[in-house]
Amino acid sequence: MSIAAASAGEIIWVIGIVGWYVIRYPFERRAKRVRVVTGGRSRSDTVGLASALFGLAILPGFYVLTGIPAAADRPASVWAVALGTIIFCLALWVFRRSHKELGRNWSITLEIRDRHELVCAGPYALVRHPMYTSFMLMGLGQAFLLPNWVAGLSGLIGFAVLFLLRVDKEERMMLENFGSQYRAYMERTKRIVPYLY
Ligand code: SAH
Repeated sequence: MSIAAASAGEIIWVIGIVGWYVIRYPFERRAKRVRVVTGGRSRSDTVGLASALFGLAILPGFYVLTGIPAAADRPASVWAVALGTIIFCLALWVFRRSHKELGRNWSITLEIRDRHELVCAGPYALVRHPMYTSFMLMGLGQAFLLPNWVAGLSGLIGFAVLFLLRVDKEERMMLENFGSQYRAYMERTKRIVPYLY
């Protein structure tokens, strides 16, 4: 039972990561065609993006392929896999909704694009950073799906590094560009957890 649950968790995680890329790919392509007015990748943002990629994809991917580090394995349970599946699905849904809402204003890093508009609708009506909410949920889903303390928890750590290196800078950049409009938006929304934070 436990071995079957372990494999099911790993397979579901792989399907989830593929789903993540399928959602993101068209936006990466489109972003190449929309002109950037200000901003660009700083060194700290490169570190943040690399941490998120490492913790949410590379390290858990390595674990799924090799079973390393086996010393950090924990018992798998059907309940953990079921919960992880629900959380990962929710993460992908929030990820897709926020990409659709942000549309041509999306960037992998912190940039203001030509005719950039402040988006306040859909998931952006509840939180200012729903994509980061979806990364956090993805990390949480990974922790339940992969029965290994290192490969399971690396997603949440990678997300936290990206979030902490980025969120203040991003809000400062948005305030510089959208002024009182963004200030008012900040007053009526939370950062990543609706009604809480
Ligand atoms: N932090 C947001 C967006 C991540 S993508 C989220 O988690 O959903 C990063 C780009 O989104 C930045 O270059 C910034 O210019 C843009 N951005 C962030 N919030 C925005 C908003 N409310 N409206 C329009 N663009 C936004």
